[in-house]
Amino acid sequence: MADIYLYNTIARAKQLFEPLDPSNVRMYVCGPTVYDYAHIGNARPVVVFDVLFRLLKLVYGEERVTYSRNFTDIDDKIMNRAAEEGTSIRTISRRYEKVYTEDMAMLNALPPSRTPRATEHLPEMIKMMRTLIDKGHAYEAEGHVMFHVPSMDNYGRLSGHSRDELVAGARVEVAPYKKDPADFVLWKPSSDDQPGWGSPWGRGRPGWHLECSCMIEKHMGETIDIHGGGQDLIFPHHENEIAQSECANDGKQFVRYWMHNGYLTVDGEKMSKSLGNFHTVHDLVQDHPGEALRLSLLTAHYRQPVDFSLATVAEQKRRLDRWYRLVDGVQAAETVPASVVEALSDDLNTPKAIAAIDALAAKETAAELKAAAQFMGLLTQDSSAWFRGDTPDGITVDEIEALIEARSTAKRHKDFAESDRIRDRLINHGVILEDGPSGTTWRKAD
Ligand SMILES: [Zn+2]
Repeated sequence: MADIYLYNTIARAKQLFEPLDPSNVRMYVCGPTVYDYAHIGNARPVVVFDVLFRLLKLVYGEERVTYSRNFTDIDDKIMNRAAEEGTSIRTISRRYEKVYTEDMAMLNALPPSRTPRATEHLPEMIKMMRTLIDKGHAYEAEGHVMFHVPSMDNYGRLSGHSRDELVAGARVEVAPYKKDPADFVLWKPSSDDQPGWGSPWGRGRPGWHLECSCMIEKHMGETIDIHGGGQDLIFPHHENEIAQSECANDGKQFVRYWMHNGYLTVDGEKMSKSLGNFHTVHDLVQDHPGEALRLSLLTAHYRQPVDFSLATVAEQKRRLDRWYRLVDGVQAAETVPASVVEALSDDLNTPKAIAAIDALAAKETAAELKAAAQFMGLLTQDSSAWFRGDTPDGITVDEIEALIEARSTAKRHKDFAESDRIRDRLINHGVILEDGPSGTTWRKAD
């Protein structure tokens, strides 16, 4: 069994990964708030933790790994969207949940073992708040339930922020019902026209942090092995998840390894609608193969920033074309090549794993190349389907095949003027021919 090393945010070090129970490895990643299309930055943790999910299953066994990723289906953004459209939060959240599931599948991300929804865990949330109140870690105030940060001795371990720093840095006016400026919301009241649920503290809705703590405990227990998400979630979201779960469970460790992926920029800048560099996954998969988008996200190490651009996607598409040409008609090897497993076992070093696949391509060891790439969620189609999916404008696949056939006939008859004429005609349509020992194949010009 390969040793896996992971960078643990809370330890600020790369550590040997030792699950609590190797027959039940548990990973949770914070999922989307479903009120709109996911952008390419949202897809980064999905693809990164999908690679880790595949690695864990390889090392510990297919049935011994549970990966949960939630849907946040109650949130002010969802409420605003529903109000704009004059519909229910359920209509909005189910619509974007479906789109999200389809778009992530286009990136060859495996479905997680479980995808719990926040709104289906209200009893668990009420129970956790009662426990926190009973143990002196939370209090009720004006229809809110607040977590009392000074009640926890070691708050701030993950982010390294002390409570004093938090208070000094607080820019917002402190709500009058807070006992301490650092206290955060577990439950807030809903007005009559807002969605809400009955609770011992009145009709209201949960705070975002509480949802994850409750879904984790319900589906995977009080202690899990890996908790992942984007760097932007370290504080306050993950810090507050620790506070809630560890205080509810008398200090029992909540998460053994915290993992956070870095930011994504587009063309060197922060992605924003106003800069015109905003890409939704839904739009990108219309024009680019999902595997090229996936590979683009994996070219940088997950803890580093990654710069996304359409030029990178085109470059990764060419790399995949190269690999697809080599594996045409080849059966994948049964075992995943060690070079790739080793690279990924070293804190998910995907650039090194991609280089290892390139090295297999250079040696033309096609069966190993295919096994390695498929393990990373790539080369999952037949080469013919990959290149066919790539039809240039103004000509159909049938027309291309017919012209290739006509050219082969001309060549057999030594009519080279005619065969050249057909080749040039295809080039004008952006179709490149490649003659090989098993006949002629074609691809779209770069
Ligand atoms: Zn979360």
